[in-house]
Amino acid sequence: MKVLLNDEILERNEAKVDIEDRGYQFGDGVYEVVNIYDGVPFTLKEHIARLYRSAKEIGILLNEQPEQLCNRLLELIKANNMTNGGLYLQISRGVFNRTHHYDQTLTPQLVAYPLPYKSVQDAQTNGVEAITAEDLRWLRCDIKSLNLLYNIMVKQKASEAGAFESILIRDGIVTEGSSSNIFIVKDGILRTHPANNLILNGITRRKLLEIMDANGWDYKIQPFHKEELMEADEVFLTSTTSEVMPIIKIDGVTFSQAKPGPYTSKFQAAFREAVKSETKT
Ligand code: PLP
Repeated sequence: MKVLLNDEILERNEAKVDIEDRGYQFGDGVYEVVNIYDGVPFTLKEHIARLYRSAKEIGILLNEQPEQLCNRLLELIKANNMTNGGLYLQISRGVFNRTHHYDQTLTPQLVAYPLPYKSVQDAQTNGVEAITAEDLRWLRCDIKSLNLLYNIMVKQKASEAGAFESILIRDGIVTEGSSSNIFIVKDGILRTHPANNLILNGITRRKLLEIMDANGWDYKIQPFHKEELMEADEVFLTSTTSEVMPIIKIDGVTFSQAKPGPYTSKFQAAFREAVKSETKT
């Protein structure tokens, strides 16, 4: 496997980071995961724009233009002969002697490498289970920060319960999943949490809403309560790696149809169409 470390493409075992890298010590950095379809990164520009926004929000200023970074990532995809899978990239604030505060002159450190392809086909066809958990994260969930401690804790809880995802609840309101955005359908209307400081504005979420607009399908950007989640006709999550993923059971309670609902299936198909047309070479 070839790894992009700053401006060099290296073999996996040659790519080393310093023990005083602030990403390693503090989680002081930001990241992205991009999906690759037939060698083409889907919504790469949008992911890089979000990376730059996240970096700016925590005071990491990147000298390189986003387009240049995109080009280097394309080179990395080629160097790895990637067809399908993910691309992980992270930028840490840089290397510094261990203090909480930092020097403004630090050089941000970039690491990017391929993630293996994992099929989500069966899960998308049959639906997955979720559990609910209290949302105890900080109040800047709009930043895609390397600090994922609470997300990890609740994802592990889901995994140990045999579930796919933890749905987070803050003050009775469903915010998002530990690594996904959450949608409900009630009486034919799609609903999801507003893109504010309480959630990460997912690229998949945005793409789906774009598709909704293009088709004239109704939706509401409006918070909903846990009770509304449990009483929804359909529930699904979105993320780069899961795309549109039906949720058929929450906290052990199965939805009446126990299979992906008609709206979710329609959105899945429309999303797949968008991927197909945007990754055509
Ligand atoms: N919310 C959180 C907390 C996430 O970590 C992720 C993805 O990792 C998402 C939402 C979905 O974002 P995207 O669709 O850009 O993958």
